[in-house]
Amino acid sequence: MKKKVLQLAGLPAPLMSALQEAYEVVEYSTLSDRDFSGMAGEFEVVLTNGEGVVTREQIAALPALKLIAVFGVGYDGVDVQAARDHQVKVSHTPDVLTEDVADLALGLMLATSRQIPAAQTFIEKGKWSQGSFPWTRKVSGAALGIVGLGRIGQAVAQRAQAFDMSIAYCNRSPLQDVAYRYQPDVVALAKECDFLLVCAPGTASNRHLINRDVLDALGCDGILINVGRGSVVDEQALIAALDAGTLGGAGLDVFSDEPRVPAALQNRPNVVLTPHMASATWATRQAMSQLVLDNVAAFFNGSPLVSPVPESR
Ligand code: NDP
Repeated sequence: MKKKVLQLAGLPAPLMSALQEAYEVVEYSTLSDRDFSGMAGEFEVVLTNGEGVVTREQIAALPALKLIAVFGVGYDGVDVQAARDHQVKVSHTPDVLTEDVADLALGLMLATSRQIPAAQTFIEKGKWSQGSFPWTRKVSGAALGIVGLGRIGQAVAQRAQAFDMSIAYCNRSPLQDVAYRYQPDVVALAKECDFLLVCAPGTASNRHLINRDVLDALGCDGILINVGRGSVVDEQALIAALDAGTLGGAGLDVFSDEPRVPAALQNRPNVVLTPHMASATWATRQAMSQLVLDNVAAFFNGSPLVSPVPESR
């Protein structure tokens, strides 16, 4: 008989098909309270995505739960402390998506500073015949500040070196094995750079790490790029800085209240928006799906998880 696994958030169709071949996948949203309490004791595995929320209450309501398998590298929606308290492991999908997210970060830097979407609109609205597109800001040779020099931050830094950018970073503690300059203070980092790239996780303690002071320090020529999590940036402060012209621009893949994106961020030539798609290429989504399958299979085989989160190691 197939093992029952509980699906708490949306997963790609090919991953769902593969899961359904091996397991009986029960979708939480389709269950009545009565159905759920009737089978809650049967689920050893919960599946969710990088934006999904798994609360302490949900973990406590699943007495057999042993694994929360996340489709995504960010797992800030999972109450990892509650998982630990209940001896539940958490797996995620690091590394396989690093290159795609770094590629998109670079794309946002280029598209925002060179105003590529606005330039296309300029052509489409027939404005070229009335004059040339306004001059934009140079990327090559600029100073890049990275908030969160982890897997993705380092992949962006590697790419930025090909653009002759100078690179500094802010982590909570310096890395021993990198040559980039460490700047422990985010405001100071923002003051020193032209582009401030956020790829730190959306933990509770990182909420609004990028606040008004940081944006003011980045300044009217500075560009903010966020591929981390929307919660890390104070979105209202960002809108205020763009309105006041005290910030040069922003390239954003993540937002505070997805999929809602404030109208105040839209239709600005100096703001480029993408719908949380940094890891959404065919190849990478397949690799992420495989990693979810491998983690769930490892759990049921009694093998070590392939990619547990640090708190579950
Ligand atoms: P890593 O864990 O490898 O890197 C995270 C880095 O952030 C670490 O170097 C950590 O260093 C640093 N960090 C954490 N808190 C702070 C802080 N307060 N100030 C400065 N640095 C901090 O993760 P990845 O690089 O693999 O992924 C990073 C994030 O990117 C994910 O958590 C996820 O939210 C986001 N992401 C977004 C995607 C998208 O589609 N837009 C796709 C994939 C990931 P230290 O611990 O020393 O502070």
